[in-house]
Amino acid sequence: MKKKDNLSFYENVQRNFDKAAAHLTYPKGILEQIKECNAVYQMRFPVKVGNKIEVIEAYRVQHSHHRLPTKGGIRFSHHVNQDEVMALAALMTYKCAIVDVPFGGAKGGVKISPREYSVEALEKITRRYTVELIRKNFIGPSNDVPAPDYGTGEREMAWILDTYATFKNGSEIDAAGCVTGKPVNQSGIQGRTEATGRGVFYGLKEICDDKDMMKELGMDMGIAGKTMVIQGMGNVGSYAGSISQNEGDVKVIAVSEIEGTIHDPNGLDMDKLIKYRKKNGTIIGFGKSKALKVREDWVGLECDILVPAALESQIHKGNAKQVKAKIVAEAANGPVTSEAEDILNKKGVCILPDMYLNAGGVTVSYFEWLKNLSHMRFGRMEKRFNQNTYNKLLNSVEELTGKSVSARDRAMLIKGADEVDLVRSGLEETMINSYQQFIQIYKRRKNITDLRTAAFVCALNKVANDYTTLGVFP
Ligand code: NAD
Repeated sequence: MKKKDNLSFYENVQRNFDKAAAHLTYPKGILEQIKECNAVYQMRFPVKVGNKIEVIEAYRVQHSHHRLPTKGGIRFSHHVNQDEVMALAALMTYKCAIVDVPFGGAKGGVKISPREYSVEALEKITRRYTVELIRKNFIGPSNDVPAPDYGTGEREMAWILDTYATFKNGSEIDAAGCVTGKPVNQSGIQGRTEATGRGVFYGLKEICDDKDMMKELGMDMGIAGKTMVIQGMGNVGSYAGSISQNEGDVKVIAVSEIEGTIHDPNGLDMDKLIKYRKKNGTIIGFGKSKALKVREDWVGLECDILVPAALESQIHKGNAKQVKAKIVAEAANGPVTSEAEDILNKKGVCILPDMYLNAGGVTVSYFEWLKNLSHMRFGRMEKRFNQNTYNKLLNSVEELTGKSVSARDRAMLIKGADEVDLVRSGLEETMINSYQQFIQIYKRRKNITDLRTAAFVCALNKVANDYTTLGVFP
């Protein structure tokens, strides 16, 4: 899709790949194999909507099979096209590699605008799409595992599981692992819905606690007190905003949505704003905020951190010069085009790349898949054991010191971990560890001058190593 810039989304991803590949010495064939999409399935199927028969255009792309299953969300949007799905599938490969999730990359897309369909019609389309995937073996716990993306959520994932399990006629014991992002009562996992937004927060916290990076950007240490502007208040944007505000003391000063952009330099209460939009169907008129005349002007607002969390190509060569933020946090996939990136790099703006920053979703999807294969919730075996051990330990401390802790403190100190505690802890560990991996490449290799290239180099090293050790079919 051409959009203001000369390169399509997929061409942007390929260009970023080439930039990073120039720093690597693997045989050309290995890099070529990684770069291209392994399998592209374009489908059209009829669905009866009301009295009409509609022919729906849809895709599933598997970018890399170096690890299986492949993994990637399903997008429902009228913008969906093959180029977009290929770009998103490729990003999934690099994203999984960055956060050490042992999957290849994939992505799905259905070219519909969900707002224009009833729930019944959406269910029919989702189920029919799933059947098409089953027919071609493009879904299954060991080969390809979808998840939510733009325009889909846990409801659609539950329909996918039900369709898959029905077709397998109860014969596949791990059927629940055919899709992630399911509702918790349908084999989902606590903490998946918030995971991408929470990961964005952990990633931002990491860079703000990085002395070298803060010095380079001329910013104060720590995330507390930083100002933030968010585009897109869907799954990712809402959680990123509210968790950053509640756990990081960030001030969200503007939010842009489809109906317009609101701004309040004193800060918007994200939790109240989310409720307000649910009730009123708009963010306009919230609290003391003022609506901007031009929705797109969120790009140029004065702030520390700009968070595009809607769609790709939102910061392009036409508006990149307006950016005043020091950090652009890519919560969405591909929100900054490569031509815009050249402009931002020249301005000294730091882009925290999508393949790292929004990897929280796939990380917790991985935990959900593991839970489905083990058929047991996390924490079930050890929670009480740990609680009893901590209790005994505390009793001994009290006995030895002759002092006792309050009942409230005792409850807090001896608490064993629930599933959601373990998921959050695993996600935080992943985001910290992955940050350290690519930031070291950035800091050590002086010829790598931006974080995206460093992240790409980190990811490509891992995928190339896999291909090298797998060997190539003779
Ligand atoms: P979503 O559908 O829940 O929310 C997207 C929001 O963006 C919607 O509220 C929509 O109205 C808004 N929007 C669309 N166009 C806009 C515009 N021009 N201006 C302002 N607002 C606009 O989608 P999501 O799941 O939050 O995904 C958002 C982005 O994050 C996508 O790029 C997606 O690929 C990426 N992502 C999502 C996940 C996930 O777990 N859901 C994981 C990784 C990456």
